Amino acid sequence: MLWLETACHQIYEVAKREKCWNTTKLHHKVYKPVREATGLKANHVCQAIRRVIGNATSVKQVHKFRPTSINLDVRTFQYIEDLQTVGITLMCGRVKFKLSIGNYQLALLKGQAPTAATLNKTKRGDYYINVCVKWPTNPTGQRLKVVGVDLGRRDIATTSTGKSWSGKQIQSIRDRYRFVRANVQSKRTRSSRRLLRRLSGREQRFQKWLNHNISKQLVQEAKQIGADLAFEDLTNIRESLNKKPRSKTERRRTNNWAFYQLRLFVGYKANIAGVKVVFVPAAYTSQTCSRCGHIHPVKGKSYRNGKVFKCGHCGFEHDADINAANNIAALGKSVSLPESPGMSCQLEGQLSLFPMIQI
Ligand SMILES: [Zn+2]
Repeated sequence: MLWLETACHQIYEVAKREKCWNTTKLHHKVYKPVREATGLKANHVCQAIRRVIGNATSVKQVHKFRPTSINLDVRTFQYIEDLQTVGITLMCGRVKFKLSIGNYQLALLKGQAPTAATLNKTKRGDYYINVCVKWPTNPTGQRLKVVGVDLGRRDIATTSTGKSWSGKQIQSIRDRYRFVRANVQSKRTRSSRRLLRRLSGREQRFQKWLNHNISKQLVQEAKQIGADLAFEDLTNIRESLNKKPRSKTERRRTNNWAFYQLRLFVGYKANIAGVKVVFVPAAYTSQTCSRCGHIHPVKGKSYRNGKVFKCGHCGFEHDADINAANNIAALGKSVSLPESPGMSCQLEGQLSLFPMIQI
């Protein structure tokens, strides 16, 4: 992998010097010298070129290529189901590795002939392989219900059907790790550095496990009651909201990779289950009354007070997160079923909902 890193740097330097960001053109320029300099196999050089172009076009400034992974394709990778091995072309030629995987992965790979994989090396020096599998998705069809999902205010997720997943557990684990980290960080010894690495890995694994769980349950519920899932669209919120002052909580929510991961998991699980996922504009979902569509008329004030939402217009009182999830569901319905009566409209720059959802 070290040679691959050298190759990536060499290719990147040429691309920068010649201002050439086209895969085929760059290939003609670098293929021969890179093969001669590194001794890499032909397919590995091709992969390296694709990676350099891919990285350079997705980020403005490439800092460093690290020797941590190789992309493999049908020419450099093969899965042999009977033997539970993978054949990988490395510098020294074709090498077979025995897989050590669980029943879940076995079931996913059953009868598959995967054509793409990534070989990863962890910081500790272990090797992992990520194998891409094709999986049939179910058609989503037309559904009449929408479950709204509100992410990360008090709880990790709250649905318009009244379910919620508490963020307490993950928060307490975070706090504990933060405490240990603060203690260890002051020491700066080799063993303390090792401990820090382990901590961050464990925290991430726990969050991932939790996200797998929550996303699975969300998709299952939507499938059971025959509904679509609606989320707030937070992809562009960063730019648009940065112009306005934002609360600390909002900043945390929009920049949090954990919510991004949760939505990613929901996306692919929903695809497999045949559940449609829609995204709705995120503005005012927590301030709007989900019964009468009212927003507090005074700027900067809200009917929401901590856990409770109490509408000053119609008197509706409800759990604030469920109220927000209801609004998301209503907006989701207008996205996924445009002919339904509950359309959203823009009023003096504020998003308002016509009354349509009931508790
Ligand atoms: Zn109201």
